[in-house]
Amino acid sequence: MIEIKDLHKSYQMGSNSLHVLKGINFNVSEGELVSIMGSSGSGKSTLLNILGMLDEADEGSYTLDGLPIRNLNEKIAARYRNKFLGFIFQSFNLITYKNALDNVGMPLYYQGIKRKERMEKSMHYLEKVGLADWATHLPNELSGGQKQRVAIARALASEPKVLLADEPTGALDTKTSYEVMELIQGINEEGKTILIVTHEDDIAHMSKRIVNLKDGVIIDDTTVVQVKAKANV
Ligand code: ADP
Ligand code: MG
Repeated sequence: MIEIKDLHKSYQMGSNSLHVLKGINFNVSEGELVSIMGSSGSGKSTLLNILGMLDEADEGSYTLDGLPIRNLNEKIAARYRNKFLGFIFQSFNLITYKNALDNVGMPLYYQGIKRKERMEKSMHYLEKVGLADWATHLPNELSGGQKQRVAIARALASEPKVLLADEPTGALDTKTSYEVMELIQGINEEGKTILIVTHEDDIAHMSKRIVNLKDGVIIDDTTVVQVKAKANV
């Protein structure tokens, strides 16, 4: 599903250059649930943003579902992003003045899907994350965990090949974090390829594979025994 070879990325700040990714190689197969770990500033978000086509590498190759991702014009990049990728963020990024159902429907709106079908699909995904009864509520009427569930439903609505989640539990308490991760595990079990950035060890161990970033390179890439549920939190 994802193939990256010798990826490099630097940020320029005035006359200074910060070399963040220094030759990253890794592949992700369909159906994997991978956590990308590393200390703050190690380049996790930079890597995820490149995978999400929100940013471009300086060097190296990236192939997504067989398509080379390089020097695409913004129109094609946007189409690929819509079609292949779903995003989940630490801060949920919901639209504050739209209710849960309409938030879920946003990617479908941008795909030009008509209102009736949009509503049906959005409801289907809200049900999937256990929030059917909250469809007409605004984000500020929802708990953090519920907001992240809405964001997950929104990410699923466009039926992407890959879900990318940057610190999806970073703004949640421990118990809610595990619940959200259990939801993500369930979605993965249905076949979705999912990459998560986290600096929390417990969360990473709920995935199937942990990739460790340090000083711009992968220092460790291992299959783990997946922790399925956390009782008594
Ligand atoms: P992580 O997500 O692992 O905390 P990031 O990928 O966000 O790390 O950042 C890696 C490094 O790159 C950090 O030192 C950060 O300050 C720097 N950085 C990130 N984005 C930018 C940017 N747009 N411009 C300049 N420096 C950046
Ligand atoms: Mg980050």
